[in-house]
Order: sequence, then C-alpha cells, then structure tokens
Amino acid sequence: MTVRITGELPPAAVDTALYGVHFWAGDTRNHRYLRSQLDDPERDTFQPECTLSSFVIPRRWAFRSELSADELGEDRDKTRDCRPCFRARR
Ligand SMILES: [Zn+2]
Repeated sequence: MTVRITGELPPAAVDTALYGVHFWAGDTRNHRYLRSQLDDPERDTFQPECTLSSFVIPRRWAFRSELSADELGEDRDKTRDCRPCFRARR
C-alpha cells in the first residue's frame, strides 16, 4: 500500500486516516488497527500496530467479535491504551 497522503496532512490526521482505535477484549486494552484490515469485510482476524511494528511474541490476533463495535475517539479511556501501539505514533 502506498501512502500518498503522508506529507499532505498533519501527522495526527494521517494517523486517523490510516488507523482505527479499538478496544480489544483479548487483553482489555486499546490498540490501533490499520483501516486496510478493518475495512476488509472478508477479514476476520486483525493484527494491531504493536505486533506489526515490534517483536511481540506471540503475535496477537484479534477476532472481529472481540473488538469494540465502534471506533474509539480521543475521549476514550487512555489508561487502557496499548503503549507500543501508541508509541509508534509520529
Ligand atoms: Zn497494541
């Protein structure tokens, strides 16, 4: 996937364009998921940013049913934010 929007939008907006934040029942934390995963209706499992960009073993796979139905906004409970996911934020 080429990301042409980078450089045309402020970093926070690029972030929002690329990622959706969802609560994952698997570890009761908020993770960032690529929209290209979330928007694929054929897809049932998702990998959060923390496993894509680091060496978290075992890799975490979240099922669609385990994610919060709605995307979380800035008013979410940030104490539940997954640190590796959000540390990758530019
Ligand atoms: Zn995470």
